[in-house]
Amino acid sequence: MDLAALIRNVPDFPKQGIQFKDITTLLLEPAAFRYVIEKWQKILEDNPPDCIVGVEARGFIFGAALAHAMGLPFVPARKKGKLPAATIGEEFSLEYGVDSVEIHVDAIKSGQRVVIVDDLLATGGTVAAVARLVQRLGGEVALALFVVELPPLKGREKLAGIPIHCEVEFMVE
Ligand code: AMP
Repeated sequence: MDLAALIRNVPDFPKQGIQFKDITTLLLEPAAFRYVIEKWQKILEDNPPDCIVGVEARGFIFGAALAHAMGLPFVPARKKGKLPAATIGEEFSLEYGVDSVEIHVDAIKSGQRVVIVDDLLATGGTVAAVARLVQRLGGEVALALFVVELPPLKGREKLAGIPIHCEVEFMVE
C-alpha cells in the first residue's frame, strides 16, 4: 500500500514555509484507512495496551478507529479549555506556534499501559506533552503511533525513551 501517494502536500499552510502533510486525502480511500488501522492492530495484538490516547484533532480519527477495532478505551487529549471535567495540562512549542494540551484526570489509572496516536510526528513537542500527562497520572507510554514522520524535524529526540512507530516518512522540514 503506497500511503505516501495518498497524503497531499499543501505548501505554505498554515503559514509560509510549512509543507503541510494532509491526511484527509488518505481518509478518502477506505482501503488505506483500514490498512493503517489493521497494521497497528497487528502490532499491538500480542500485548494490547490498557487504552488508546488520541491527540486532538487528527489523532482522534486514527486513535478512535484503532480503539474501536481493538475493543479498547479511547482517551482524548484536547486543546486547553475543551474538556469539561477535572483536567491536568502541559504546554509545548509546536512547529508553528505554542499550544497546550489537557487530559481528564480520571481517564488514565496508575500503572496502565497507554498507546498515544497522532497523525504526524514533526518536532515531537505535542506528543512529548501528552506523554508527560500520561506519566503524571501514573501511566506508562508503551508506544507512540503516527501515520507520518518528518525526520528532519527530529521528533524522535524529544520522545527519547518512548517506542515509536510511523508508517510514512517525508524528508521535509
Ligand atoms: P509536533 O509537535 O511538532 O510534532 O507537531 C505535531 C502536530 O502538529 C500534529 O498534531 C500534526 O497534526 C501537526 N503538524 C505539525 N507539522 C505538520 C505538518 N507539516 N503537516 C501536517 N501536520 C503538522
